[in-house]
Amino acid sequence: MSSIEFDSVTKVYDGDIVAVEDFNLTIEGGEFLTLVGPSGSGKSTLLRMVAGLEEITEGTISIGEERVNKLPPRHRDIAMVFQSYALYPHLSVRENMAFGLKRSTNLPDEAIYDRVEDAAELMGIPELLDDLPKQLSGGQQQRVATGRAIVREPAVFLFDEPLSNLDAKLRKHMRTELQRIQQELETTAIYVTHDQEEAMTMSDRIAILNHGKLQQVGPPREVYNDPKNLFVAQFIGSPSMNLFEVSYESTGDDGGRLVGDVDIEVGPERARRIEAAGAERLKLGIRPEHVGVSQRRDDSHVAASVDIIEPLGARDLLYFELGEEADDGSLVTGDAAALEDEQTAPEAEVDERKAFIEPESISEDATDVFLSLDLEQADIFDAETGTNVAHLTREETPPTA
Ligand code: ADP
Repeated sequence: MSSIEFDSVTKVYDGDIVAVEDFNLTIEGGEFLTLVGPSGSGKSTLLRMVAGLEEITEGTISIGEERVNKLPPRHRDIAMVFQSYALYPHLSVRENMAFGLKRSTNLPDEAIYDRVEDAAELMGIPELLDDLPKQLSGGQQQRVATGRAIVREPAVFLFDEPLSNLDAKLRKHMRTELQRIQQELETTAIYVTHDQEEAMTMSDRIAILNHGKLQQVGPPREVYNDPKNLFVAQFIGSPSMNLFEVSYESTGDDGGRLVGDVDIEVGPERARRIEAAGAERLKLGIRPEHVGVSQRRDDSHVAASVDIIEPLGARDLLYFELGEEADDGSLVTGDAAALEDEQTAPEAEVDERKAFIEPESISEDATDVFLSLDLEQADIFDAETGTNVAHLTREETPPTA
C-alpha cells in the first residue's frame, strides 16, 4: 500500500493562473480520499499532477517513498478512471481491458488475459468480455473502464468524477461497488467529485478545496460537524447550513447575546471565545436538523413564516423566513419586505433557510411558526474572515478505518 504525499505543492498555469497553492497533505496507504470543491478550485489539477499529466510548478509529490515530480506517467504505478470512459470502439471488452498491460508490460498474453478475467469477475462483468463497447449500457461501460484500471494492479487509483455520467440510481450502486473494490484491493485512492453526497458516503477522509487552497481535511463526519470555516460549513451538507447575521453583545461576567437576525443568549464558554476572537460581525450557522419548529409560541422562540413544506418521505423540509411579530399579532417578515423593495434581487442572494420536521407535524396551511434554535449544535463564524470562532465540539469523531 502506497502513501501519497503533497509537500507545498503549487501549480501556476500560463505564468499567472494559480490553480493550486501551497497544498500539503499526506494520504495514507489504502486510504480513500475524496477531493471536493466548486468548479475551478483545483481538484483536477491536483489529480493530474499525481498522474504526471501536468507539471508541478513548486513543491513535491511522492508516491510511497518515491518523489515523482519528474517521473513519466507510465512509471508512476497509478491508474486513472475518468468521467468519459474512452473505450476503444473497435475492440472487445476483453481487448479494451488488456490494452494497457499489453503496451506497458512484457507479461505473456496468458497472464494478461488471466488478470482481465479476474478484474471482470471483480466488476461483475465476465459475461460482457466479448462484447463491443457500443453494445453496453453507460453503467456497463463504466465497469469496463474501472476494470481496465484494476487490471493494472496499480498502487494508486485516481478517479476523476467517474460516476457523473450515470443516472442517480446507478450512481448510488456504483459508489458502493467502487468502495468495495478499493477496500478489497487495498489500493490508495484519490477521488475527485463535485457531488458532496458521494464524498460523504465513500470517503475515509474528505479534503475541501477553494480557489486552489486546502480548506479542511478530515473524516466525513468531522468536516460536517466541525467545519473550520464558513466555506466548509456551507459546502458540506445538503440542504446547506442556515446562516443568520448577528453581532455580539456582552451582558456581563457570565455570558452575552447574539443580536441581529435572531436574538439569543450564549453561555459563558461561547461568549469567552467570541470575545477572544474580537469579531464585530458574526454569522450564526445552524443546520436544518437543529432547528425545531412549532406552531405554539414560547418566549425563547424565534418567529418565522412558512414559505413551503417539501415532503421528502421520512422527513419533511420546511422553508422559512424570519419574521417579527406586528402589534396585531401577525408576522412581518424581513426578507419578504426586502424582496418586495427589490424585485430584481438575484435569487442566489436570498438566503433560503430550512428546517427538517417530522412529516405532518406542522399543518399544511400553517403560515406563522416559532423556531427553537439549538445553540449547542451551532457554529459561530467571523463574518469577515469566515473562521469558526466559537465552535464547541459536539461529539468525538470515531477514528477512521
Ligand atoms: P476543478 O477540477 O476543481 O474544476 P481545475 O483544476 O480544472 O479545477 O482548475 C483550476 C484552475 O486552473 C481554474 O482556474 C482553471 O481555469 C485553471 N486551469 C485548469 N487547467 C488549465 C490549463 N490547462 N491552462 C490554464 N488554466 C487552467
